[in-house]
Amino acid sequence: RRLTTQDIRSMFLQFFQSKEHLILPSYSTIAPDPTTLFTVAGMQPFKEQFMGAPAVFDGRGSKRVTTAQKCVRVGDIENVGRTRRHLSLFEMMGNFSFGDYFKKEAIEWAWEFLTSPEWMGMDKDKMYVTIYKDDDEAFGYWTQNIGLDPAHIHRFDADENFWPANAPLEGPNGPCGPCSEIYYDRGPKYGDDTWGDYYETRESARFLEVWNLVFPQFDRQEPDANGQPVLKDLPFKNIDTGMGLERVASVVQDVPDFYSNDVFGPIIEKVAELSGKSYEGEVSVSHRVVAEHIRSVSMILADGTSFSNTGRGYTARKIMRRAIRHGYMLGWREPKLFELVGLVVTSMGEAYPELKENQSKVEAAMKAEEERFLKTVEGGIHRLGGLLRSMERGSVLAGADAFELYDTYGFPVDLTKEIAEEYGVSVDEAGYAESLENAQEIARAGSKYGKSELFGGNQEVFEGLPATQFVGYDHLRAEGQVLALVGAGERLNHLSAG
Ligand code: ATP
Ligand code: MG
Ligand code: MG
Ligand code: MG
Repeated sequence: RRLTTQDIRSMFLQFFQSKEHLILPSYSTIAPDPTTLFTVAGMQPFKEQFMGAPAVFDGRGSKRVTTAQKCVRVGDIENVGRTRRHLSLFEMMGNFSFGDYFKKEAIEWAWEFLTSPEWMGMDKDKMYVTIYKDDDEAFGYWTQNIGLDPAHIHRFDADENFWPANAPLEGPNGPCGPCSEIYYDRGPKYGDDTWGDYYETRESARFLEVWNLVFPQFDRQEPDANGQPVLKDLPFKNIDTGMGLERVASVVQDVPDFYSNDVFGPIIEKVAELSGKSYEGEVSVSHRVVAEHIRSVSMILADGTSFSNTGRGYTARKIMRRAIRHGYMLGWREPKLFELVGLVVTSMGEAYPELKENQSKVEAAMKAEEERFLKTVEGGIHRLGGLLRSMERGSVLAGADAFELYDTYGFPVDLTKEIAEEYGVSVDEAGYAESLENAQEIARAGSKYGKSELFGGNQEVFEGLPATQFVGYDHLRAEGQVLALVGAGERLNHLSAG
């Protein structure tokens, strides 16, 4: 039988429950700690437990936990809709050990779940594994306990096989450790590249990274006086894993990408129906962008973030406006995207009841944002198109022009960059930042106009929407929300790059 994404989610949780893990609900998309704006990994709500805090959740003690965590990553959002492997919202399935089991079990169980015919039944011979350069312990388990061909095991540096990526050098502080990742070779119909090509470029349509097994055993401290990284041993060794639900689903269902699976398929169909433009597969980038972005914005809004011009709310707006622009390209001149929310609720509402609870508020907020942006999008596209057509490929659009597009037409600079790229033109981002800074200066200097546009704005759309209730982490969340206001968008980009 063909497994649905729902099936795979519940099978994962069931599998780890059978290995004595406690199932906990997903934490909010609002990051629980200030290193990122959004939750980017399943481990984030458990940092305190990795550091030695008691592993007690909602009164239940357990050193083994399993979750499906909704994650938002926007560092490579321009890839969404274009590559086969990146979504701005995805579910990370995880199993966690707080000073309980370690590498051996983590490796054996991941292997069992992926390859056993009772579970995912993926082909053992198509598995590839990466390990941290000097992790002979992991190498030993992969070769001896699992029997994996050593030719399928490759060693990488901390930029690839450490989590967070390159943590020793770049941070963030806190729990971190080497990791071992599992890749699946989807075969020649997905490209004639080889593992060697992947090894060189870290890019391949054929070899898909499906699961990251992280071994958090260090607490990264501030670098010492000489700027050298300081990794302190944690009181005990932990396990933190992340399996991409949608990626495993596309392998198991043997569909070429996410967009023909059971989650996105119905949304894509509806996009085709509403636009009268049929979906032609890979070339139909706009259908895909719209479907993917509506799913992620729905979840972000349902979790209590509202469109604004700062922080998380600005990220939500950027994703939404990218979707609106692609909707515009599909011919939509009036709000339409909000009509897709119902399908997101159908496919995910059972696992994430917050979607159902907030559906009408999410729809209203999206519709309002569509109305707002559609008023100016056409003007902006004309203005930008005019500028770009007069420019040579390889030239640079002035920062002041990019700022005007933001200020007058509401174009996030990323959107301007993406459109400019289609003309082979880049954008002077430093110049843009300077123009923005100047405008903020002026606004700060006492003008009563513009302030809400620049600094806040549109909170009213969401007045009264309660944050997602999640019993068990309330203390963490309240703290996280306050701290997360401090921002740290930098870190977000760092974590989600690549
Ligand atoms: P990639 O190299 O493909 O960008 P990653 O190394 O950044 O992935 P991890 O941080 O290791 O990903 O996250 C654990 C797992 O979550 C990945 O192995 C993958 O299956 C899944 N995953 C990560 N990012 C995405 C994404 N943007 N969309 C869908 N799934 C993802
Ligand atoms: Mg990777
Ligand atoms: Mg990875
Ligand atoms: Mg990545």
